[in-house]
Amino acid sequence: TIVVTGATGHLGRLIIDALIARGVEPAAIVGTGRAVERSADLTARGVRIVAAAYDDAAAMDAALADAETLMLVSGSEVGARVAQHAAAIEAAQRAGVRRIVYTSVLDAADSPLVLAPEHAATERLLADSGLAVTVLRNGWYTENYLGAVQQAAQSGALLTSAGQGRVASASRRDYAEAAAAVITGEGHEGAVYELSGDVAWGFDELAAAASTVTGATIAVQQVTPEQHVAALTGAGLDAGTAGFVVALDGDIRSGLLASTSGDLARLIGRPTTPLEQSLRAALAG
Ligand code: NDP
Repeated sequence: TIVVTGATGHLGRLIIDALIARGVEPAAIVGTGRAVERSADLTARGVRIVAAAYDDAAAMDAALADAETLMLVSGSEVGARVAQHAAAIEAAQRAGVRRIVYTSVLDAADSPLVLAPEHAATERLLADSGLAVTVLRNGWYTENYLGAVQQAAQSGALLTSAGQGRVASASRRDYAEAAAAVITGEGHEGAVYELSGDVAWGFDELAAAASTVTGATIAVQQVTPEQHVAALTGAGLDAGTAGFVVALDGDIRSGLLASTSGDLARLIGRPTTPLEQSLRAALAG
């Protein structure tokens, strides 16, 4: 079987969709996550969904019992992920899994991006695992901007401290199709792909696309990092989250999410989904 972690989340579910679209039998797919009630529709389609926290060895062993491939979707608990991923990799080793495909982040090994260290550490664990490994270093999801766009449609201002930084984002569906192409394809073992959108857009372009898809008039409002933190905490974010969001804008200002290698379009065999189209789809839910 193919075991897909994070199946209760956005990307994992889309990877399962993309696998089925590529002809994988639902019965040959196992999805894992904790909030398995969110995956009732996948169960109805014949996918086996197993409740398994990464560090629940018995549950992971049960999920991986017949697995040939583990699609390890990185976890969402920033700060706790290296131990969680290590536990998942150890479970794969116990189960005799042949191959792991892992969702990392752009340029993980060398990037000063605030999110990179956990991914770099996981990549090192994978390299030492003795298993066949493919690393999908995912860039930003366009959907990350859904909330900001919705808020900007109300206020008219798209707040950023990213300056002239550019973001080569792509839709989650694009990244999911790439994962499915790697899982079902040949010759990807040992590969490290730098996946990102074909176009690196700036925040003026994001505001223009946001205006088009929402019908509101939205302009970029460039603020300093300090002003940005104040605005976010004023809107109800806790200080830690606000600081994290602003640190990411700083990373964008430094160009850390702007690279366009073309790997994603090559893997999916088509251009990545344009910004405006992805935003429109995200708004439509
Ligand atoms: P979601 O938050 O929608 O999904 C995260 C998934 O990880 C859920 O299925 C969740 O399961 C699972 N998960 C988290 N912690 C654990 C755990 N301890 N044990 C088992 N499962 C766990 O994120 P997305 O689908 O949008 O993104 C997938 C991953 O990509 C994220 O987890 C994150 O690593 C990364 N990411 C990338 C971004 C980008 O722009 N490239 C942006 C945001 C995240 P459950 O909720 O059922 O516990």
